[in-house]
Amino acid sequence: MVVATDGVEALTLIDQQPFDLVLLDVEMPGMSGLEVLGQIRLRHSRTHLPVIMVTARSAGEDIVEAFRLGANDYVTKPVDFPVAVARIATHLSHKWLVEDLRDSEERYALALHGANDGLWDWNLVTNAVHWSTRWKAMLGYGESGISDDPEEWFRRVHPEDIGHVKEALEQHLASGSGHYECEHRLLHRDETYRWVRCRGAAVRSAGGVATRLAGSFTDVTDAKLADPLTGLPNRLLFVDLVDRAIKRTERRAEYVFGLLVLGLDRFKVVQDSLGPLAADRLIVAVARRLQTSLRATDVVTRDEPGYTLARLDGNEFNVMLDDITDVRDAVRVATRLRRALEAPFDVDGHQVFVSATMGIAISTTGYTRADEILRDAAVALNRAIASGTLSYEIFDPAMRQRALSRLQVETDLRKAIDNREFELHYQPIISLPTGRIAGFEALARWRHPVRGLLSPAEFIPIAEDTGMIVDLGRLTLAESCRQMAVWLTQFGPAAPRFMCANLSSKEFADTELMKGVGNILEIAGLGSSHLKLEITESAFINDVPAAQVTLKRAQSMGIECSLDDFGTGYSSLSYLHRLEVATVKVDRSFVGEMGVGRSGSAMVRSIVALAHTLGLSVVAEGVETAEQFAELRKVGCEYAQGFYLSQPVDAEAAGLLIAAQPWETVSCARRAYN
Ligand code: C2E
Ligand code: MG
Ligand code: MG
Repeated sequence: MVVATDGVEALTLIDQQPFDLVLLDVEMPGMSGLEVLGQIRLRHSRTHLPVIMVTARSAGEDIVEAFRLGANDYVTKPVDFPVAVARIATHLSHKWLVEDLRDSEERYALALHGANDGLWDWNLVTNAVHWSTRWKAMLGYGESGISDDPEEWFRRVHPEDIGHVKEALEQHLASGSGHYECEHRLLHRDETYRWVRCRGAAVRSAGGVATRLAGSFTDVTDAKLADPLTGLPNRLLFVDLVDRAIKRTERRAEYVFGLLVLGLDRFKVVQDSLGPLAADRLIVAVARRLQTSLRATDVVTRDEPGYTLARLDGNEFNVMLDDITDVRDAVRVATRLRRALEAPFDVDGHQVFVSATMGIAISTTGYTRADEILRDAAVALNRAIASGTLSYEIFDPAMRQRALSRLQVETDLRKAIDNREFELHYQPIISLPTGRIAGFEALARWRHPVRGLLSPAEFIPIAEDTGMIVDLGRLTLAESCRQMAVWLTQFGPAAPRFMCANLSSKEFADTELMKGVGNILEIAGLGSSHLKLEITESAFINDVPAAQVTLKRAQSMGIECSLDDFGTGYSSLSYLHRLEVATVKVDRSFVGEMGVGRSGSAMVRSIVALAHTLGLSVVAEGVETAEQFAELRKVGCEYAQGFYLSQPVDAEAAGLLIAAQPWETVSCARRAYN
């Protein structure tokens, strides 16, 4: 504490060193306290140097005058020391608080400056926004050029983003707490959009009403438009590029561009064996190689070939082929890209071979939006993948039609399960020695409300792809078991002995399958020996261990399994003995050869012989002629099924066939029902 004897000395001291607070007597020799106060206030503000006046109790006007001149407080004489000390403490702590705040504000301003952010401060009472210089510069403007009208801000927001910007603002204002944060595009002076991250918070009155909204803007355009892994343009940027190219096709009839989508083959396998991090490194290496190959512009002699490589999805790259002559340019690029991937990649010391399949779409098909041409290139890619042999495919509109109708089937199929639009037809399986109906194969039909009765080829593959086969399979199993139980009751010992139901590989790979089958048998009241399950070879090949578990379980439940379409797979003969099946169904392609030349019959003959050595019975599928039928009897085949005998028919017609037994041979009729 320093004591000055008069006003002049006090002012000199204040000029020489910093003080936290001044206690100033109004009545002093020479210069009065009020005059000294006036002088202090010329140099220091109220917050910078608080002044507490000491006055006589009676001097009311002095106090008023002191406050007018900038005093912070007063104490009266005689001084009540505890009161005076309390007041001094209050003013000092206030002053320090303000200083701290100013420090932190300065730090904040510095930080913002360093972060390159723009600032905005929206006074909700006057509805004016203050923009920082940096903010204006970020949008290409000088000090003047952007008004303080918030509507101008909203007009700059991209039309597709304005909805969620306003929603986020309203939500924040209504919520009463937290922060406002929103990413959107903002129009730059150069007519391009920049991505900004806008953050802020409301300042609220004591009643909780927001009076100000202030915050910052960060330009995130670069981060937003690049794929973080490869640094290539990402979907946002690429779609924008394609959209611009489409606009160009509308302005210039001769302008053509192409879009190529490249998918890395079997990438999942690579990922599973190398691990995700190495797979990422491989993606980066592939990106580099594709990029280099595109830059080597030996194909088209043009100043600026303008091929843009982008990464939109995991293992897919896209190339925008700007300003090409026709589809042949795109094909050349496809060939070049495929060649670029031929040499192996070195990933963590492993040699990895990568191949790619591509889909191409050309702007001449006629597009109005980027997602349309992206979709068509993807359709072409899927076609190439499905072919199993093509390394690229060019989109044609018929493909889109096929893809669309497939989509329609998918949609309809979902409804069909709920609406019970499926029915079963039954094709008799004849015992060759007796000519009696030994069993039936249940075959699904879809009574489509518009397209009529559809065969399984039109919906089973789609049901498999979409997983709907599981529900569909349960339905057909339950219905065929119910029907079989009805026939057993109705015909007694004259009833067929078994019902065959087809299972797809997806169902078969489900290790819980047999539990469901057990329930179905129980509900239908059908003994397990009356059900046979038909599976094709692909069911085993896809997931051998799971299939073996299912087969074992079926066997332990007393359910027999048949190997369907035998002979159409790859290595049937080699593993036939390892599978727990009771029957093989010889594919109709072999049966169709019978009777035509000797070789056809010989093939079936050897399959029957092999099956018998392994203790299996044989069903011949697709028997279409009397000649085939007779031949099958001769080679010792147990059962026959085919159009020569009967088409698959509905339950009622099948019941009539059981009653009539039209193929029972007279010579065998006296034998016991076999
Ligand atoms: P699949 O199990 O091999 O069934 C035999 C197919 O051959 C049936 O075709 C049948 O109508 C047909 N067929 C029978 N005899 C002859 C003949 O003499 N000549 C000719 N050309 N064809 C004959 P469908 O009913 O169109 O069924 C096709 C396939 O769909 C079936 O082949 C089966 O794999 C599958 N499938 C049918 N129903 C179901 C089902 O409920 N679930 C599952 N997962 N698949 C089913
Ligand atoms: Mg079958
Ligand atoms: Mg078959």
